Amino acid sequence: MEGKVNDAPAIGIDLGTTYSCVAVLHNGRIEIIPNELGYRTTPSTVAFLDVERLIGDGAKNQMAMNPANTIFDAKRLIGRKLSDPKVQENMKLWSFRVIEGPADTPKIVVSYKGQEKEFLAEEISSMILGKMKEIAEAYLGKVVKNAVITVPAYFNDSQRQATKDAGTIAGLNVIRMINEPTAAAIAYGLDNKPDFIGKINVLIFDLGGGTFDVSLSTIEEGGIFEVKAVSGDTHLGGEDFDNRMVDHCVSEFKRKWNKDLTENQRALGRLRFACEKAKRILSSTTQTSIELDCLHDGIDFSMRFTRAKFEELNMSLFSQCIKTVDQCLKHAKIEKSWVDEIILVGGSTRIPKVQHMLRELFEWKELCKSVNPDEAVAYGAAVMAAKLSGSDDKNVRNLLLLDVTPLSLGVELKGEVFDVVIPRNPQIPTKKFKNYITTKDNQSSAAIKVYQGERAKSTDNHLLGKFTIYGIPPAPKGDIHFEDCFEIDPDGILTVTSKILSTGISNKLRIANEKGRLSKYDIEKMVKEAEKYKLEDQEYKKKVKAYNALEDYIYNLKKKVKEYNANKRMHPESLKKMEKAIDETTEWLEDNQAASINEIQGKKTYLEFVCTPLV
Ligand code: AMP
Repeated sequence: MEGKVNDAPAIGIDLGTTYSCVAVLHNGRIEIIPNELGYRTTPSTVAFLDVERLIGDGAKNQMAMNPANTIFDAKRLIGRKLSDPKVQENMKLWSFRVIEGPADTPKIVVSYKGQEKEFLAEEISSMILGKMKEIAEAYLGKVVKNAVITVPAYFNDSQRQATKDAGTIAGLNVIRMINEPTAAAIAYGLDNKPDFIGKINVLIFDLGGGTFDVSLSTIEEGGIFEVKAVSGDTHLGGEDFDNRMVDHCVSEFKRKWNKDLTENQRALGRLRFACEKAKRILSSTTQTSIELDCLHDGIDFSMRFTRAKFEELNMSLFSQCIKTVDQCLKHAKIEKSWVDEIILVGGSTRIPKVQHMLRELFEWKELCKSVNPDEAVAYGAAVMAAKLSGSDDKNVRNLLLLDVTPLSLGVELKGEVFDVVIPRNPQIPTKKFKNYITTKDNQSSAAIKVYQGERAKSTDNHLLGKFTIYGIPPAPKGDIHFEDCFEIDPDGILTVTSKILSTGISNKLRIANEKGRLSKYDIEKMVKEAEKYKLEDQEYKKKVKAYNALEDYIYNLKKKVKEYNANKRMHPESLKKMEKAIDETTEWLEDNQAASINEIQGKKTYLEFVCTPLV
């Protein structure tokens, strides 16, 4: 790729659980960048094969054939521990293998080019981000470096940091990470110039493939967004609706044929693909059918699916969404009737029942669908990217953004009491101080444990990290005062510092080490590996080109031989010699699919030499 890095505009990437989307401010407007197939969203899927690696549509399309080596849902794993109950629950539904790495970190195991390989979720996400970068580069004709990446509002600190690491591994400079609903609110503000005066309350209902976020924001004249509250479920979305359909089909299959489909991973993969397609159809028609030839043990599967059945299977999940909206309103201390606009974001908001239930909750208020639900987040991220790179576009310049962090942050006190330092939903960036005292006589050190959550008992919350402050001067308990400082940067990432006030000795939360996060060394190593895989992919493409060129050449030679044989324009012995060389090369090509480019090109040169009289 030619071009100077600093030429290229910064891009906005919506790194979704199931689909990702990239956008950029180009020629004065935000453009959603289509991938090489012309699609405006790209599956967040990576597949490993014997000869190559596929990312995006190519990976998703072959999923049913290669379920064990096709990785999706990396966003459900990123920044989480293997023992996390959500991860354990998910593993039952995945067709790929996840094992325990160091510090309870999940590792994905695949077979790639005949060898067993292990990848962290960050590496899989980096491959998807790399793909989005390439899509943008192909469109812009320039090397892209700077990007804004979005994350679900409910992502905790380690999930945010791991996502940022994924960006770095992909060769991106992540200039900011913003919450997905915030990005959607930005998109809404730009698309629909507000004709209101003062302030409006906007509810953003984002139901995507794997995550669900509800946020309540205010938008002020002049494009000032302030997120007041966020709620959601990092584990609810279109895939769960697909799973309910799959489960239903599996039990129907069992009832009808007395055979267990769950034993057949390939069949399950094909079924999931068909169910997702049927689900989309059911958003516009009231019935469809699923037909799969030879699904399991030679049995053809055929089933009629109605919208009513789909709704019945998923009713509890839809109700959960509505309950979460109520919860969000409570956190924001806003009455239903004060909500001025309801914005739909995420592909799953196309489901008619979801829209119906939401309208019912808001007493049949119209929903705002003017922002394309699949693209709104990337759109907003691109606006933010343009703003941060100093774009002089008027709309972008006017935009101010005040964001919030969804969960309270604090420290553990004696008796596992959780003491909140930053309450949930403050504006970020933010900095808060709180003072503490020693709890023992002559205490020489103090352990500071930082948690994130809403529960009163520290251990019921999410432990973000811990560190110790040494060198406390001898004194009776309660005489030594500490000042803890909690600082959240614009990406929503936290630094905690604790200082002994009398001596000035301080220590910081070493987040990277404490959370089993990636060290600088690990990231550098992965950047190199990502580059290596990219090179391998390019090599593979070159090899396929050489292979195809030889195949075409043989095909043409065979045609020529036929012609020469027919009109006897050459000595039969010479022709036989050439035919032999052609046949031998054809056979060689069939037997040596893994041959190197040099070997393939060598064979072509040899054929060209032997068959010169033919051409
Ligand atoms: P997103 O992550 O926002 O791109 O949303 C992707 C999810 O939306 C996937 O689970 C899709 O199956 C789902 N989806 C996309 N279009 C539709 C549709 N027309 N009806 C129902 N679900 C859809």
